[in-house]
Amino acid sequence: MFKPRSGSLCYSTYLCGMISQPEMNFSLDLLSWYALHKRDLPWRHTKDAYFIWLSEVIMQQTRIEQGLPYYEKFVETYPTVNELASADEQDVLKLWQGLGYYSRARNLHAAAKVVADDYAGIFPQSYDDIRKLKGIGEYTAAAIASICFDLPYAVVDGNVIRFISRLFGITESVDTAETKKKILSIATECLDPLNPGDYNQAMMEFGATVCTPVKPGCEDCIFKSACWAYLSHMVDEIPLRKSKVAVRERYIHYLVLTYTQEGEDFIYLNKRTGSDIWRNLYDFPCLELTAEKNTGILPLQSFTSLLNTSAAVLGNVTDEYIHLLTHQKLHVRFYRVHIPEKIELPFIPVKVSDLSAYPVPRLIDRYVLAQDWI
Ligand code: SF4
Repeated sequence: MFKPRSGSLCYSTYLCGMISQPEMNFSLDLLSWYALHKRDLPWRHTKDAYFIWLSEVIMQQTRIEQGLPYYEKFVETYPTVNELASADEQDVLKLWQGLGYYSRARNLHAAAKVVADDYAGIFPQSYDDIRKLKGIGEYTAAAIASICFDLPYAVVDGNVIRFISRLFGITESVDTAETKKKILSIATECLDPLNPGDYNQAMMEFGATVCTPVKPGCEDCIFKSACWAYLSHMVDEIPLRKSKVAVRERYIHYLVLTYTQEGEDFIYLNKRTGSDIWRNLYDFPCLELTAEKNTGILPLQSFTSLLNTSAAVLGNVTDEYIHLLTHQKLHVRFYRVHIPEKIELPFIPVKVSDLSAYPVPRLIDRYVLAQDWI
């Protein structure tokens, strides 16, 4: 088994200036570990910026097992940035369906158009130009610049924050800009300038597979004899987070409105516009109530403002669905309502049999898949 060369020095002494990065051999040890233990993933066989970009955007906030099929679908459907650029946004959102954070898909599509139009389909090669593309923040720009163009930019994602905080004994809250800057500076100083792409990937891989949020593999960890958190019995406490972002509770009642015409079932969809969640995806007409007014199942009359007919028949009403988003908790009910014929409403009537062609949020997909009438 690979053994590190850092001896018994604790990495926290690096922060006091008592040892230097070459003395601690951190990046060399990490790269040796990575060479032996990295997972075999399709984007690790290429330096093509389009594929690296796709993988980085898809894998943000996503587990590899969940993101991998999406990466493969995107590469197959849009093998070049120009093909992604000329796709219809609705098709891109449909392919993205189920991954959540739909603004990432919209930004990906918008940035692909810029690469196609302004850079003739050739991905920009400087950090600053990459960073200017829509949806590409410091993290993604550093990943693309280092992996594809060997530029010395360190990435700092959640995995790197956890790994560095524990190893180097960062005991301040990692939510502050100051601590993030400190972590970026350690990651940058330790970066191997000859191999920045592998170094960054190794940092993230180590955090994702060994120095994990729960039950990290400390006993077999190559850094344990020099890890501040391990030696101080503080692994479960680090990284420290002080701020908890407030979660907004929302109460939504969906009207699943259907009618039958010439033997074909139709359903009304609502295209979401504006700045709320799920922009440009489809859901159903809905009422949203405050917590105080949300006292249980609504009578059919409550939907009068949406429905505009008295000839409606209320069918099944679901129990409450709970759907969690990053900073929101949705409490949702679905009301099946049938009307005898099409009426003019500010919603889009579509054949039930065509429903699967529309990009919908995962919550709507969960409901639709549970119905036997689809
Ligand atoms: S010893 Fe544990 S806490 Fe320290 S780097 Fe290794 S896995 Fe992380």
